[in-house]
Formats: sequence, C-alpha cells, structure tokens
Amino acid sequence: MVQLFRNRGLKVTPQRECIFEVLWADDGLHPSAEAVYAEAHARMPTMSLRTVYQTLNDLAEMGEIQQLDLGTGSARFDPNTDVHHHLVCNGCGKVRDLYADYSAVEVPPDARHGFTVGAAEVVFRGLCENCQDNQEGEGES
Ligand SMILES: [Zn+2]
Ligand SMILES: [Zn+2]
Repeated sequence: MVQLFRNRGLKVTPQRECIFEVLWADDGLHPSAEAVYAEAHARMPTMSLRTVYQTLNDLAEMGEIQQLDLGTGSARFDPNTDVHHHLVCNGCGKVRDLYADYSAVEVPPDARHGFTVGAAEVVFRGLCENCQDNQEGEGES
C-alpha cells in the first residue's frame, strides 16, 4: 500500500495508511464513509471526516477501491476490485461479496435501446443471518 501511493505520486500519510487498513480489516463488509470514519477515528483520534472522504475519493479515483451504490442510503467502499457481485441485507445493510458467473445474463437485442452492453453487476437483496434470527425472535414473542 505504501508502494502503491508512492507509485501514484501521493504522499504516504499515517491517515491514508490507517484508512486503507480499516477498509481491509472490515472483513468484506463494504463500509460506508461514516463507518470508515468511526473506525479510523477510534484508531487515530486526529482523523477528520474530511480526510476520510478525501482519501476514499483518492483511492476510488486511482481504481484501488470501488465506490458502490447498493441502494442502502450511502455509498459503500469496497477494497476488492475483482469482478464480483453482492449480497445486500435489507435489514441492516450488510454487504457480502458474491462470486458467481453471471456471464450468461444477456440483454435481448431489441431491449438495448441502442446501448452497447458491457458487464453486469448483480445485486441480490435478502436478509443476513442476524436479521433472519431477529425476525424469528419477533415472531415468537
Ligand atoms: Zn442484516
Ligand atoms: Zn464487494
């Protein structure tokens, strides 16, 4: 990561290192900027929300992370830049990576509105394990 920033002519600051670590430490949960800030601020009390936004934007522009709009209300940041799809929880907004081959998904030629068609990103919505448990609990009581 230090190498990455140097290669791009960006200064390696402790703040940037911290944010990058937070993104990867999140175990694929695709945090929002606010969630990154909460964790980064806990690790480094001098961290400002502004720095977090700026750094996330820089990293996204460099193509080192993906900014995703998954319909959860705020942009989510994904350090995984491989081609992959997502499972999104309707209950708590948790996001998980999904590796599956959807290359067979096709847009019929008469439905393309003149578009050339590239890759498909598939988002499945449902409930995560926690939210399923909570729902069951509510049903019983
Ligand atoms: Zn959930
Ligand atoms: Zn992802």
